[in-house]
Amino acid sequence: MRELDSEVLHLLPLGVGDAFTTRYYHTSFLLLAGGAVVLVDVPAPFGKMLREATEKAGLRVSTEDITDVVLTHLHRDHCNGLEEFAYRRMLAGEGVPLPRLHLLDELTELLWYTRLEPSLGPGFPPAESFEERMSEFFLLNPLDRGQGFATELAELVFETRITRHSKPCFGFRADYRGARLAYSCDTEWDPEHLDWLAEDADLIVHEVGEEGPHTPLEKLAGLPPGLRRRMRLVHLPDALADRDLPMPPLRQGEILSIQKRGGEG
Ligand SMILES: [Zn+2]
Repeated sequence: MRELDSEVLHLLPLGVGDAFTTRYYHTSFLLLAGGAVVLVDVPAPFGKMLREATEKAGLRVSTEDITDVVLTHLHRDHCNGLEEFAYRRMLAGEGVPLPRLHLLDELTELLWYTRLEPSLGPGFPPAESFEERMSEFFLLNPLDRGQGFATELAELVFETRITRHSKPCFGFRADYRGARLAYSCDTEWDPEHLDWLAEDADLIVHEVGEEGPHTPLEKLAGLPPGLRRRMRLVHLPDALADRDLPMPPLRQGEILSIQKRGGEG
């Protein structure tokens, strides 16, 4: 099994496709740094995605190893695996610490009652508040819009920014020991968001998709070469699967090191 340098932030894509893909899994990835294992979004089939990506990368990471879950928004391709994740952790027993769940405060109650409670909850009438029920599965960290947070590993910190999308959603910048990963998350073409992401970023992971709630490829193809060199694409529609792209897409099971870079771009 492969050992990762604990001084370096690593990115492992579990899925790279859009909401309607038949070629990939939906977009999700792990960030690994020190002892922290941060899962960004939880599509279905979560367990299969984790197994295939970690085996391909030569890593041993199981559901029980995940310290933090970042849920960017409630579109199904980003959260349909959360019930499975919660069940798996519940079945792991009390010896496994609860994972932190970072999400927008305004979505927490909605998430519980529309997606988790029908399966994980006690049925009606609920005996406790939704926060109490959710706290059996997660250490909840409800975020205000634009609020940052630290993970279980205090040195791995996130800043968030609300995107222009059809549902409340945030992108983020994650910093660890001087290196920065920026992730657009789902967004329409938004130069201000991109400026924010690009600031001191060593790697920018940007979505691509159909005009409207997503960012058309043509907009990204027109960016300056120095910026494009720092960028990888994700949330891929099937139509882009066999095309030459102006910057490479992420690949499921490919591990990337986020290294502090110098110079232009
Ligand atoms: Zn979305």
